[in-house]
Parts: sequence; structure tokens; C-alpha cells
Amino acid sequence: MYPIDQLCCQNPECSDRLSRGQGNLVFRGWSGKGKRIRMVYCRSCKAHFSERKGTVLEQSRLPDETVLDVLNHIREGCGTRATGRMVGVDKNTVTRYVILAGAHAESLHQELVAFSPSDSRGPGR
Ligand SMILES: [Zn+2]
Repeated sequence: MYPIDQLCCQNPECSDRLSRGQGNLVFRGWSGKGKRIRMVYCRSCKAHFSERKGTVLEQSRLPDETVLDVLNHIREGCGTRATGRMVGVDKNTVTRYVILAGAHAESLHQELVAFSPSDSRGPGR
């Protein structure tokens, strides 16, 4: 769960789209299976979106903690296979999150994704 200050409006038309912690966003309601995902409401443009929108977790079907585990192992230098074994997910799943996180690291400076994924494919097999 993120503090609301780390989120920004996901409506591309919104005048406050790029600002964080400006007080325009509030949590309002829940979505997803078991109502685990919070909905965010923007007072500036009156848009509603999931707290996962625009994050690595948006397309995720894994629990947040599992995704964070994967990313933390990778950040500590574990390879995709080792990470997969330790966290208990397929190595292809690990690779998918590394790619997602890498893409997000370009534009979002969130602690969650602030690392440079190594290319585990390497030059030679
Ligand atoms: Zn907005």
C-alpha cells in the first residue's frame, strides 16, 4: 500500500497530473477481488482510478508482497532463476516484472522500482 503522497493523477488531461502530494487525490472505495485495491479520486479533474494504475502492479495478478519480494531479490543482485526459486514463482514471471519495473524506472522515481535490472540473458549461453 502506498501513501497517497506517492501517487499522482493518471488522467492525461488533468492539470495536476504530474504533481504528487498536492492534496488533489483522496482514497475513495475499493476494487478487485476481496476489495484489496484502493480506488483513488482526483479532486482536480474528478477522475477515479485504481491505486495500481500506472504502476508495476497494474497488470499484476500476484499479491503486492510477492511482487515486492521479486523486485527486492533482483535489486540485491539475485538472478531471475534464483529469485524465482526463492520467491516461489516461475522465472519467466520474474523476467516479466523486471521488464515492467525497468520501464517504470524511466519515468517514476519510486523506491519500488528504483534499480537498473541486469540483463540475465547475458551475451553467451
Ligand atoms: Zn486529476
